[in-house]
Amino acid sequence: MNRAKSKSEFARAKTLMPGGVNSAARAFGAVGGDPIVFERGEGAYLFDIDGNQYIDYIGSWGPMILGHQFDGVKDAVHAAVEKGTSFGAPTVAENVLAELIIEALPSVEMVRLVNSGTEATMSAIRLARGYTGRDIVVKFAGNYHGHVDSLLVAAGSAAATLAVPNSPGVTAGTSKDTMVLGYNDVAGLEEAFAIHGSKIAAVILEPVCGNMGCVTPTPEFLSALRTKTEDSGAVLIFDEVMCGFRVAYGGAQSLFGVMPDLTTVGKIVGGGLPLGAFAGKREIMEHVLPAGKVYQAGTLSGNPIATAAGIAMLTALRDNPVYYERLETISQRLEAGFTDAAGQANVDFSINRVGSMMTLFFNDQTVTDWQSASKCDTVMFSKYFWGMIEHGIYMPCSQYEALFISNAHTDDDIDKTIEAAKAVLSQI
Ligand SMILES: *Cc1c(COP(=O)(O)O)cnc(C)c1O
Repeated sequence: MNRAKSKSEFARAKTLMPGGVNSAARAFGAVGGDPIVFERGEGAYLFDIDGNQYIDYIGSWGPMILGHQFDGVKDAVHAAVEKGTSFGAPTVAENVLAELIIEALPSVEMVRLVNSGTEATMSAIRLARGYTGRDIVVKFAGNYHGHVDSLLVAAGSAAATLAVPNSPGVTAGTSKDTMVLGYNDVAGLEEAFAIHGSKIAAVILEPVCGNMGCVTPTPEFLSALRTKTEDSGAVLIFDEVMCGFRVAYGGAQSLFGVMPDLTTVGKIVGGGLPLGAFAGKREIMEHVLPAGKVYQAGTLSGNPIATAAGIAMLTALRDNPVYYERLETISQRLEAGFTDAAGQANVDFSINRVGSMMTLFFNDQTVTDWQSASKCDTVMFSKYFWGMIEHGIYMPCSQYEALFISNAHTDDDIDKTIEAAKAVLSQI
């Protein structure tokens, strides 16, 4: 595949932006080589500036559950642009989107719209601390909640150890009230609450994890999370920025029947435009300024173009449960195909999938937490990634990301992807 134009544009980008990108996730750090520069997306496909076509399994890292240029969203954006792009004042569209979110997520009674997933988790953490008057926030190793200072910690294991920041610029002071536990580790959670329970403001997690690859919570873990937080008066926050409206229209909370106190959403909720939200029980949300005292504001929050896209996206998903049924069917087929391909090639692997989120791990053990995830053969992953690119299959550029299937993927796309995986893995 010729990518000469991509190569030269990326070289230019590197002189203009750190690492040539506007988000670290886009750089090919984990697999080596240069990112591909794109011109347009259509349905399940991306087209790069050299004219190559790819079947896209990133979908802008989640939002494109109905494919690129989904008609409803495109039309809504066009119509909204005609009325003005930003007012910094209330609009009816904000009410409509808030109602859609409240109707979709069973635990949610009130919403505040923001501009990104990071803003949503940052504000939810502040709210939980303001509401409880406590400091400690518990997070889980391998879970990503955006680039919020106090959440940019993943190291540390024992319940009692203080977290060490994993980015320069995050001070020890900022991260000292963040406690990192193992995902699915019920005993660790119980120990943390036994020691620090009265000081824990919130527990935040990805209720279906996508950011160490796709990892599912056990029922015991979910149940312990709910009872421990409830008993000690801590706020349980489901970060559904990735899995909300994806694993089910009602998110992981409706899939598992476990209700958090606060929920954060992003990605799909903005239909591909910059929009996120934090939401939850009225009693807690009413502590947000100006109803309450916990500060939160945003010049472009509830932006009319983004809310129009979000309304169109959620309405389409709500009114077409068949989309989720089809996503399950084709995702199952892709999973079975990858299982065959890896089996035939005789490589060590395991696959985790929840609906249209899936990861093929080059690891013979089932991945349940960061510890098991970190045993993957990432060199093998890089070879697999680049092999798939040469076959026109664009997948996440890290072993520790989920791939996203969209309703725009045809049966033929799925078959081509499986054939490519067979060809690539048999050569590894
Ligand atoms: C993507 C993501 C975020 C951050 O959202 P941004 O819009 O990139 O700021 C937060 N939490 C989870 C679970 C995510 O997947």
